[in-house]
Amino acid sequence: MPIINLEQKDAPTHYYNIIPDLPKPLSPPLHPATKKPIGPDDLAAIFPMELIKQEVSMESKIDIPEEVQKAYQIYRPSPLIRASRLEKELDTPAKIYYKYEGVSPTGSHKPNTAIAQAYYNKKAGIKKLTTETGAGQWGSALSFACNLFGLECLVYMVKASYDQKPYRRIMMNIFGAECVASPSDRTESGRKILAKDPNTPGSLGMAISEAVEEAAKNDGTNYSLGSVLNHVLLHQTIIGLEAKKQLEKVGDYPDIIIGCHGGGSNFAGISFPFLRDKLKNGKKNLRAIAVEPKSCPSLTEGRYDYDFGDTVGLTPLLLMFTLGHDFVPPPIHAGGLRYHGAAPIVSLLHKEKVIEALAYDQLPVFEAAMKFARNQGIIPAPESAHAIKAVFDEAEKCKQSGEEKTILFNLSGHGHFDMTAYQDFLAGKLSN
Ligand SMILES: *Cc1c(COP(=O)(O)O)cnc(C)c1O
Repeated sequence: MPIINLEQKDAPTHYYNIIPDLPKPLSPPLHPATKKPIGPDDLAAIFPMELIKQEVSMESKIDIPEEVQKAYQIYRPSPLIRASRLEKELDTPAKIYYKYEGVSPTGSHKPNTAIAQAYYNKKAGIKKLTTETGAGQWGSALSFACNLFGLECLVYMVKASYDQKPYRRIMMNIFGAECVASPSDRTESGRKILAKDPNTPGSLGMAISEAVEEAAKNDGTNYSLGSVLNHVLLHQTIIGLEAKKQLEKVGDYPDIIIGCHGGGSNFAGISFPFLRDKLKNGKKNLRAIAVEPKSCPSLTEGRYDYDFGDTVGLTPLLLMFTLGHDFVPPPIHAGGLRYHGAAPIVSLLHKEKVIEALAYDQLPVFEAAMKFARNQGIIPAPESAHAIKAVFDEAEKCKQSGEEKTILFNLSGHGHFDMTAYQDFLAGKLSN
């Protein structure tokens, strides 16, 4: 039985909030100018109150509104797949399961939070959302969700991707969103960056500056972030909550959980509902591994410190693992993993050694992606392929030791818009 489905009537009706279960309290975000802890009022200029409440909530369970549950039914529950064929090819005694988030309308896990954020903003009377996007996964997810709830959407897309990845941009346009190359001359932040370096390829940090500025300056316009923040991680726990029910159906439980790591949201989504058992219910040996690119190694090589979420310094300072807010990552193909920071919750769990982190170069990641595609028929997003590489390494360890471990990983998206990357790999043009 390779596919383990969950019926819609058994779909989760709440998110899991890990904040009350953390080994230490989270340090508060600091105001960018005063460096004092910020309160809800400081965030109200760009976020709706329901999301601000979720950001600091100490409730373990947070209800998923009925309208959001209905919207999830378009593509959820997502399948859990036992990769028996892959286990055979790897000749490992390990059991390998993956949760496939590529079944969503835009092909990744990102609509899970986009839908919730669009809903709460609509309910608060907001007319328009602004955001940034790197490779385009988040921009297309938010465009889709805004269209669902009748909101306007403006996306600042990192310039390098805007030029190289027209298909994601067209997808946003299909859903009625406006997509602008960042840095642009539409905002003060953009003009400031362009004055310094007119030929910059852009970065997520720069695009965030522009989107936040636009939202802060306009009434009826809010800002939406696709990763990093507590409420985003919260919405993504739907992935792990479903996976837990699906594994229960076959009487299994993971020893190792693996997710790729850009800002931390899909890794949090798959792992937090299980980590609750480690933090609260004595599952001391449960391992969770966040996997990032060697070229943007925030968890593995960053410093644990307060830093801005954007380049210009408009966002609150967050305590996280960071490479520095002015770090411009090299243009590797896993665009969704090119962020200088990491989610404060994931950072704290890493600092406290509840979770582990690993980094891989681009080439072995694409080799793993090719093997997976040929075995399972799904072409993974280059981001997700980082998790696959780690799964292969853990499966190999099981082969060496003879241990029958259960490995669960999140296949965060498909790679159908990343064919140029695969083409480069096949032509031998890709380097680490
Ligand atoms: C955006 C993205 C990621 C990275 O973001 P996280 O917040 O770390 O999950 C990973 N995989 C895919 C397919 C993405 O689109």
